[in-house]
Amino acid sequence: MGLLRVEGLFKAFAAIRAVDSVSFEVRPGEIYGLLGPNGAGKTTTISMISGLLEPDAGEVIVDGTPFGSDPQKAKRIMGVVPQELAIYEELTGRENLEFWGRMAGLSSGDAKARASEVLAALTLTERAKDAVKTYSGGMKRRINLGCALLHRPKLLLLDEPTVGIDPQARLNILEFIRGLRATGTAILYTTHYLEEAESLCRRVGIIDHGKLLAEGTLKELQERLGGDRLFVLEADLKDISPDSWAGFHQRFRVIQKTERQLVVSAIGSRDPSDCLKDLLGLPVQVENVTLKRPSLNDVFLQLTGRDLRE
Ligand code: ATP
Repeated sequence: MGLLRVEGLFKAFAAIRAVDSVSFEVRPGEIYGLLGPNGAGKTTTISMISGLLEPDAGEVIVDGTPFGSDPQKAKRIMGVVPQELAIYEELTGRENLEFWGRMAGLSSGDAKARASEVLAALTLTERAKDAVKTYSGGMKRRINLGCALLHRPKLLLLDEPTVGIDPQARLNILEFIRGLRATGTAILYTTHYLEEAESLCRRVGIIDHGKLLAEGTLKELQERLGGDRLFVLEADLKDISPDSWAGFHQRFRVIQKTERQLVVSAIGSRDPSDCLKDLLGLPVQVENVTLKRPSLNDVFLQLTGRDLRE
């Protein structure tokens, strides 16, 4: 059973359906990625799960209990790391942690002891006594993350924790998150970075315009594209539509078409060399055909018609 289950979650702001009938679950000990571009509805989803925002419809069920029927239980189980930093710049790193520990219901002694542990895990012990305003961007992100961990949540909600920091700081945070997972913490991880979703998450839900378009492991999502390889054909395709090629749509599914490139998957389990022959025999001046493994971006492209990297 899922540690977190979200069923038919819906939220509109005036005419904008920010989150539109979203359902998914996060299982104990897994990292579930919610992948989507800016404005897809990730933050609104997290806000509803953490009780900051009332859903218009749908339900959030934490460890088998609807959020609304026992918010205190839900809050004991969850830790929330908002995208906007929720730390006090004038306080030291340690004071921030202890403050959030007390907010989470720890005694003063427990908050102190846990703050020391979290500072060590975040490799911030040496800076513990400095005001947070003197920290680098990456260090602030780490303290922000640490503030949600004082009460040892079983489920951590992380809203784009690596936005706006340098690559080294990003790697540190990703390493830290892997460590949390290794100790059994389940994580809901929102991101618009494909590589993070690919490398970190056991399962990924793809969200766009408030709707969850598909979900699964990377392998399952790749299989939706019809196998484990894509063909990339380069040619002058400016005024050409594959619709005009006899039999093409029976044999290939178009993933992306630009003026220069056609990305397709083969329909059915066909021998790749036959597919290559078919593609080279098309009535266009083919400059190159290559094979590649489908990426999460290809899945996103097929689902939305847009490139998440743009
Ligand atoms: P980002 O990565 O940019 O934070 P996101 O996927 O988290 O994007 P949301 O912040 O959830 O997306 O926004 C989803 C949609 O809802 C957007 O169109 C946004 O403009 C709109 N929206 C979010 N909060 C509000 C609000 N309080 N009032 C009005 N519209 C809102």
